[in-house]
Amino acid sequence: MKSRLSSLKNRFNPLPGKLCFECNICGHKNVLGIDELQREGGACFWCGSVVRFRSLMAILSALLYNEIIPLPDFKRNKKITGMGMSDASCYASPLSAAFSYENTYYHQEPFFDITKIEESDHDKFDFVISSDVFEHVLSPIQPAFDNLCKIIKPGGSLIFSVPYKMAGETEEHFPVLNEFSVQKESSGEWALLNKNANGETERYSNLVFHGGSGATLEMRLFSLEALMKNLREAGFTDIRVHNEPAFKYGIYWPKPFGIPLLARKG
Ligand SMILES: [Zn+2]
Repeated sequence: MKSRLSSLKNRFNPLPGKLCFECNICGHKNVLGIDELQREGGACFWCGSVVRFRSLMAILSALLYNEIIPLPDFKRNKKITGMGMSDASCYASPLSAAFSYENTYYHQEPFFDITKIEESDHDKFDFVISSDVFEHVLSPIQPAFDNLCKIIKPGGSLIFSVPYKMAGETEEHFPVLNEFSVQKESSGEWALLNKNANGETERYSNLVFHGGSGATLEMRLFSLEALMKNLREAGFTDIRVHNEPAFKYGIYWPKPFGIPLLARKG
């Protein structure tokens, strides 16, 4: 801890282009270059949260308390129900302590697959956080949005993010998958092999993985326009992109792509 403190002290030089902020996830002070504040950058020295994570929690805070307060100051209320889909532990753990919130996973316990929900999952949550998950869900994507709306209580909220481009249609990388596998070939290249309905093998290359090579495969690149349509068709209203900066908490979006949204179940 000592070396961390002295290292941080050295970073507290009030230099031009630097921003001093309070991380709204762990409550600690940070100093970073303004240009480090990117969607997946501007990591908090203490908890590792990036701009996207801080933004998600700022949206939840504004939703619950009408202002941004740091996560450690969220009032404990176990009547509030929430669910996360592969949320980062830096905010999932405090949310579990404050609310009846459970973080879930596709690949590990507690399991949750948004493409296969039960009747008992309906109208269950005051809020659901789904951040950078839907670009990995198998096609067709609309039923997954429909399910997302079903599991939220009427009047409840969705805090949502995916990487997106601004206009045009969503680009589905693998529109119709039947029996498929992702393999690293002898050349070292990753490929997706799909046996289609006619029994023919289709090969897709130039795969995009998130979280490192061979990790989670990107299935599509959303467009904001199409994403809004997916959400509206599922039954969400009051859909809003939360692009306003909160410099005090190290939240700033220099680019318009992939900014988190808040939507309400109508
Ligand atoms: Zn932090």
